[in-house]
Amino acid sequence: KAGGRGRVTVFDEEMLSDKRYRRLVERELRAAVYLGELELHYQPIVDTDGSVDALEGLIRWRHPVRSLISPAEFIPIAERSTLIDMIGEWVFKRACADIGHFPGRRISINVSGEQLKRDEIVTMCDRVLRETGRSASQFIIEITETVATAATPEVLRRIEALRGLGFHIALDDFGTGHCGFNYLKSLPIDSVKIDRSYISSLAHDQVAQIFVSALAQIARIQDITIVAEGVETAAEFTLAKTAGCGRFQGYFFGRPAPRDKASALCATAHEP
Ligand code: C2E
Ligand code: CA
Ligand code: CA
Ligand code: CA
Repeated sequence: KAGGRGRVTVFDEEMLSDKRYRRLVERELRAAVYLGELELHYQPIVDTDGSVDALEGLIRWRHPVRSLISPAEFIPIAERSTLIDMIGEWVFKRACADIGHFPGRRISINVSGEQLKRDEIVTMCDRVLRETGRSASQFIIEITETVATAATPEVLRRIEALRGLGFHIALDDFGTGHCGFNYLKSLPIDSVKIDRSYISSLAHDQVAQIFVSALAQIARIQDITIVAEGVETAAEFTLAKTAGCGRFQGYFFGRPAPRDKASALCATAHEP
């Protein structure tokens, strides 16, 4: 079936509402973990000078028949069951195994709001760190703004516990939810990632400029780093820097790529 951008949607809404079909995909996904069909790609997150500070791990499913499937298509299916916990563990183990290929850099991983509904997220992270001998301070955990603002006391307690282990916490997709500036100081976070929609508006939308600048000023007081997401052009990089963002991510610096390609990009002291 044709998707929005002329792309083929593998699992569409209609299919998702079909319980039997969902079960089938769930079963295939579960098998994909064992069959080694999942891949973690990496996208650089750079400093104001363009040097790579960290890499965001972004999952892909190399399906034998349907080729490379985007997380936007299968993560929602995984989130309907504890399958997301299994995938979350696979992601963190993969990141722990790969981080040696990115000397001096941190890896940022995405944690689903569903994973935060269970204590297992904390015990799993703690266990994998001990098993792999990695330190939590080498990792950033990204939690979306929507999840953070809807967090129950239990979810907040788990975020605090992860931070207690030494993970840095980033608030992802900021600006898409209902997080007031005032609420920011009550959240146990180290950085805020401003959604791409604001970055692409910077050139022509004064409201977006004011929003990003205000956020950057507040963040500075609270010792929070602002990360600009979806930087696609040199002009957007300059505008985001001027507005006060401290880190940058987007196609301008590099697309998500398999580990070895991403690592080669880090090694060649990248200047965009
Ligand atoms: P996200 O966490 O907001 O990740 C950023 C998305 O923006 C990625 O899409 C990335 O490829 C894309 N992107 C980066 N730079 C640019 C740019 O300059 N322009 C444009 N147009 N896009 C850019 P991707 O990899 O398809 O991931 C989509 C979403 O799937 C992620 O959004 C995240 O919510 C979720 N996801 C990815 N990996 C994982 C994972 O391991 N676990 C969980 N729970 N969710 C994941
Ligand atoms: Ca740096
Ligand atoms: Ca993210
Ligand atoms: Ca994001």
